Amino acid sequence: MNSVTVDNSLSPHGGQLVDRIITDKQLATTMAGECQGTLRLKGKTAREIVNIAYGVFSPLEGFMTKEQLDSVLTTMMLPNGYVWSLPILYDISEENCREMAIEVGHKLLLEYHNVPFAVLEVEDIYSYDKDYMANQIYSAENVDHPGIKLIHSLEDWFLGGKVTMINPPIFQDPYDRYFYTPKQLREKFKRRRWKRVVAFHTTDVPHTGHEWMMKMAWFQHRARGIMVSCAVGDKSIGDCIDENVLLGHHELQKSGYFQESVHLTTMLLWDRRYAGAKEAVLHAIMRKNMGCTGHIFGKNHAHPQGFGDTYAAHFAFKDLPDLGLESILSKEWFYCSHCQGVTYTGFCAHPDKVDLLESKSVCSLLSTGIRPTDNLLRPEVFDVIVGAADKYGFGDGYVTEDYLRRRSPIFTLAKF
Ligand SMILES: [Zn+2]
Repeated sequence: MNSVTVDNSLSPHGGQLVDRIITDKQLATTMAGECQGTLRLKGKTAREIVNIAYGVFSPLEGFMTKEQLDSVLTTMMLPNGYVWSLPILYDISEENCREMAIEVGHKLLLEYHNVPFAVLEVEDIYSYDKDYMANQIYSAENVDHPGIKLIHSLEDWFLGGKVTMINPPIFQDPYDRYFYTPKQLREKFKRRRWKRVVAFHTTDVPHTGHEWMMKMAWFQHRARGIMVSCAVGDKSIGDCIDENVLLGHHELQKSGYFQESVHLTTMLLWDRRYAGAKEAVLHAIMRKNMGCTGHIFGKNHAHPQGFGDTYAAHFAFKDLPDLGLESILSKEWFYCSHCQGVTYTGFCAHPDKVDLLESKSVCSLLSTGIRPTDNLLRPEVFDVIVGAADKYGFGDGYVTEDYLRRRSPIFTLAKF
């Protein structure tokens, strides 16, 4: 039953950070031993388990049951009345489900790279109409929409139920420098006396327009801190490699464009849904759970180019209850040679003098061999991504087939 009485403005979302991690080795071994079967995780599902266990997805405690999924798709709320905009699913083939004779009430050991990682308590086993799911999320019929393709790439059955992590992830270089749990972030903000923190979601190396978008959002939100939150996860050919996004943002602070007292580069394990406004809502909820009080939404936020309104995220919150987080809606910031500085849509009237980096990622500039001017990209950032391209990208700063095959793991697990 949907309830209108819950307070959606609570932070964390739902009022409490979900914490589903067992650190006691003995207990973890016992839990693993009680399982009726073992399943192997794919990367995306493993990343979502990290988010569930550490409370990034609060108040969600596991993968969605059919009742939760129906509720989210039809009302944008969980059955308990808390706003939630996108499915979080454990998909499995019907064949695999039948072979293992999985039943409601079973506990399943979830392995990642052949190492025990988590336990799933099966509360629901169901199939679902994927056309309906895609239509409810994307309201689009174009089968080339990357989000619709993702829905149709799912297996046909789903397992719903709570998840407990029994073997915490060990983040690898360079991710170990930027991964914080929501609890750690909240403690960090408290130590820095950041009462108001504005989040910036990104999958790109920052050009000067991005830098100024963050600076102006800091003023607009009357923030003490800016939390850069780099979405790390699935990648497509031509994207910036995850390592470059993290190192490029951090370099802005190392080189003094932001003081440490106002700036923190972090990462979020997130696989894109290309769901525009609906994805923006979930981004807001996740950053609220991390302790942020504001969130920047710019052009093409979580939106694939060429599919409808590029500012859809700006209208994401208008029919929703107060989520307790201020949306900072921004158009474009860019360098104009006539204005002789970074300016903004609505100010500058020199379209022929503007170099918009929007349609190409900063990393793709590396392939041209031409060093961008300091007005477009900070020289220190350029140097860092050139170095990282060699170290992490097999010579390229952007995602190639080679990178997809050979990229170093984001996290590994200890022997169990
Ligand atoms: Zn201008």
